[in-house]
Order: sequence, then C-alpha cells, then structure tokens
Amino acid sequence: MCGTITHNKMTEAFVYLWYDAPNKMYYLGKHKGSPEDSYTHSSTIWEAFTKDNIPEGVTRRILAYGTDEEMCILEYELLINRKKRCWDRYYNDNVCDGVYGGFGLGENNPTWKGGISLGNNRKKYEKDKYAEDKELGMKLYNEGYSYDEIKLMHPKARLPYHLISQEEKDRRNAMGRERYENKRECYCRKSSCEYCSELLLTPEEIKRRKAESSKIRNEKDKLDPIKDAHKKEVSRIWEEKNKEKRRQQQRDRYVKKGPTDISGKKNPFYGKKHTPETRKKISEKAMGRTPWNKGKGMSRKKLERQGEGTLDAFLK
Ligand SMILES: [Zn+2]
Repeated sequence: MCGTITHNKMTEAFVYLWYDAPNKMYYLGKHKGSPEDSYTHSSTIWEAFTKDNIPEGVTRRILAYGTDEEMCILEYELLINRKKRCWDRYYNDNVCDGVYGGFGLGENNPTWKGGISLGNNRKKYEKDKYAEDKELGMKLYNEGYSYDEIKLMHPKARLPYHLISQEEKDRRNAMGRERYENKRECYCRKSSCEYCSELLLTPEEIKRRKAESSKIRNEKDKLDPIKDAHKKEVSRIWEEKNKEKRRQQQRDRYVKKGPTDISGKKNPFYGKKHTPETRKKISEKAMGRTPWNKGKGMSRKKLERQGEGTLDAFLK
C-alpha cells in the first residue's frame, strides 16, 4: 500500500499507527498530507526521528485514509478507545477532548493555524495572523470604510501605509522624529563600550522589565482564544506529568505563607447564623457520633508529633 494513491480531497489525510517493537509501544496519530512526505509523528514523549533515520524495529501502518475532518474524528475515537484499554502502551500523552470543539489541538483541529500546537511555532502563527489582519483591513477598505472607521470597528485590522489617514501618518512621523532626536550615540550595549556601559541596565532592572513585558504578553494572549486554549492545555499536560512537583510547590508556598487566618472577623461566616433547618441537620448528624478522641489519652510527645503528615494529607 504505497506510491500511487491519488492525492485528492478523499485522501487528503490519514490515520497512522507506529509500532516501536523493541519497547512494545505504539503511537497513534493523524496527518494531513501524503504518507510519502517527510512527516513521521508529533509525539512530545517519544523520540523524534525523520524518514531517513527511523529507529530499528520501528514500523508504521496506515489505518485509514479520508478527508481531514473524517480523520480527525477517527483519530479521536481511536485514542479514546485506546485510553480505556491500553494507554500505558502508547506514546500518546493526551486525547485533547473538549479543546477546540473536541477536535484537539493543532493539526488535529480543522481550523489548524499551522504549528501553535507545541508552542514552538509562535512566530509562524503571528505571521499568519498579521497577514489575516492585513487582509481584513483591505476587505473593509474596499467596502468603503474610512481608516478611522476601520480602526474603530476592528482595532487589529491593518492597512498599507498609503491608505492610512493623514492624522495617523503625522502621529507616526512625530514619533519617529522624537526617536531620531533622542537617538543614542551607540547601540552596541557592551560593558566595554564607554558610552553604553553608562546606560547599561542593572540585572534587577532587566529582570523587572522582562517580567513586565511577559505580563503584558500574557494578558494579550488571554484575549486570543486559540492561544489561551493552547496555554491552558499545555499547563494541564504539565500538571498531569508533574503532580508530585506541583504538590511540593504548594507545600513550599504553604510553609512560607503559613495558614490563612480565618479567625474572627476574617472568617467568611463571621456574624452569620445557620438557618434552623441546617442547625437541625447538623445536630441530627452529630447524634450517636463517637467523639474522635474517645479513649485516646495522649502523651505530650505524641501530641506534638500529631501535626506531622497532616499537610501531606491536606494537599492530596
Ligand atoms: Zn556602545
């Protein structure tokens, strides 16, 4: 089964199954393209390889051909099935149910934007979006809207320079002039440079600025549904793989911060009273309950050790 499959809509994509015989492991995936092309797999767990250096004992089977959407659905169904049965024999790390309308991330999504799935292709994603914004700007312009109207309706839409309003051009020119007038004498930023060393930022300042710009970037990303969903998915995967690490982080934070003070007025229930019904329920529940410390006389030492381990239990 190879070589001569016509590449039309009906066979634009396929579902494949890699078998890693030495490790008795599988990887199931979907790819839009031809089985002949250089694509191998997109597992983030399994080693990456190309068609030219397929590891020994590793083979691939094509399970089905079809349209991209059909293959998305089939891959999804197969992964769900595998997850129930023999997930530990799969290099697949997640079935992205619920993300992007149940089609999963990245290439598994019919509205695939070209590589944001692994977070390593942000550049291309931004580039495509830039092109989209330009297209939108031209479309609106051709429909007869003015620059100001377009900016008001779609702040992200872009227009080529000659179609920008005079006011905006003036603003940009003024900015450019100011930049020019306050231009630095040198931009090498080396500590050996007499001019630049004076203007060098302290490590603390660099750290602060970086934190600030990443904060702005995060806020902006939240407004983009695709990036937001992607980030959430990435952090979900991380949490799943690093449960123990996360628990340790929580412990550290808890130890550092200490328990939250909810005594007196700080208690959310402060000044409130349970309704008579609730009170009755609590009382009924308490009846016949053996006191937790019945017959448990404790030595001083034992009492002190009593608190050990409760934090672990709490965080579980
Ligand atoms: Zn310099």
